[in-house]
Amino acid sequence: MKYHLWTIGCQMNQADSWRTGEGLDTLGWQATSNPEEADLVLLNTCVVRQSAEDKAYGRLGSLRPLKRQNPQAAIVVMGCLVGKDTTALEQTFPFVDAFLRPSDVEGLLEFAVERWGAGSSSGAAASQPVPVCCYVPVMEGCDKHCTYCIVRLRRGHGRSRLVETIVEEVRSLVERGAREVTLLGQNVDAYGHDLPGRPDLADLLRVVHDVDDLWRIRFLTSHPSDMSERIIDAVAELDRVCEYVELPVQSGHDLTLKRMARGYTVGEYRRLLSRIRERVPGASVATDVIVGFLGETEEHFQATYDLLAEERFDVVHVAAYSPRPGTPAAQLHDDVPSLEKERRRRLVEELQEQIASEINNRLLGSTVEVLVEEKHKGKWKGRTRSNELVFFEDGSEWRGKLAQVDVTWAGPWSMQGEVRGFPPG
Ligand code: SAM
Repeated sequence: MKYHLWTIGCQMNQADSWRTGEGLDTLGWQATSNPEEADLVLLNTCVVRQSAEDKAYGRLGSLRPLKRQNPQAAIVVMGCLVGKDTTALEQTFPFVDAFLRPSDVEGLLEFAVERWGAGSSSGAAASQPVPVCCYVPVMEGCDKHCTYCIVRLRRGHGRSRLVETIVEEVRSLVERGAREVTLLGQNVDAYGHDLPGRPDLADLLRVVHDVDDLWRIRFLTSHPSDMSERIIDAVAELDRVCEYVELPVQSGHDLTLKRMARGYTVGEYRRLLSRIRERVPGASVATDVIVGFLGETEEHFQATYDLLAEERFDVVHVAAYSPRPGTPAAQLHDDVPSLEKERRRRLVEELQEQIASEINNRLLGSTVEVLVEEKHKGKWKGRTRSNELVFFEDGSEWRGKLAQVDVTWAGPWSMQGEVRGFPPG
């Protein structure tokens, strides 16, 4: 039996697809990159912006003839396209066999077992190698009420997994070759707030830090209102926790932040950033920005631009505001024209390209420590602790190893270098 996975969207979707693939492998299935030869086609979808939703619908439509040719094949749709009520989806896409809520990996596996039985080699994949860097979801859903965001509507309120369950999963991944884990949550800083005894992300980081043979830990995405001093302390004190945070600011103007219901001011964000940079020297910070949100004037946009120019983030993910059905913002007139949104988006991208080039250029001639993940187009590919992408060529086997690399070329999005050897010690 063969399965084909198609995934777009956030790291949570990538983690869900990986877990789905692993579950099916355990049932004796085989992955295929060709949907036409698959018995099961899974689309793991995202609707955070209209463009992602359009891609999901486009892909779904393209599967209609496939189902006609091979009625035995099953088509399953999972992810944020699927809300509580699936009636409209079922009517529009009658050839889809099942619609599953976001992250319902169990549901997918149950569907496969019900339809095709438990498979032939149960347990076979449990000891297969895993990626060097793995995602581990630690909580599902979100309790924030950002007015533009559809995630809470589709993924529900925040539900944390138990500390023991997470640590057990991390241990098992490390036994199978993982050396880095990224703990995932839509608002990962809220981890544990719903659990008995209220363990927080700092507690979780400390426990995961004790897992033998795990070298690096990351977590994302943070929320400025929930990133506590305890979390910053954990990053500062735990040597396996990378000096890297993803802290979306969304806008550099207080009025826009208020309209977005983000719950902090630009001043508060800047103070938090200074605090992180003071406690964690050399910390790499990524942020997200939405341009062209409701009522965003040139002056408001300029404030965002100035913030990015002054704070010099390592990474900026910029998106043009896209009204999402069911969100409070979607009830108001989307008043910034598309061309203007696009102009603002491009300005941010150009600024960030320049900043990222300057940041990476400073590393030219230095030696960085890279955790090597895989070979990519003939070169070894890995990341530094601050999440910079590094490539190098070498005939030896480097997968899953730490390499000291002399940086010989630096661009805005990646660097290249020559390997020197293993890190000291
Ligand atoms: N939970 C994270 C957060 O703090 O927002 C990530 C969720 S979302 C998948 C990732 C990014 O998409 C957000 O940070 C935001 O910048 C962007 N985004 C969310 N809703 C959007 C919308 N309606 N239009 C444009 N961008 C949006």
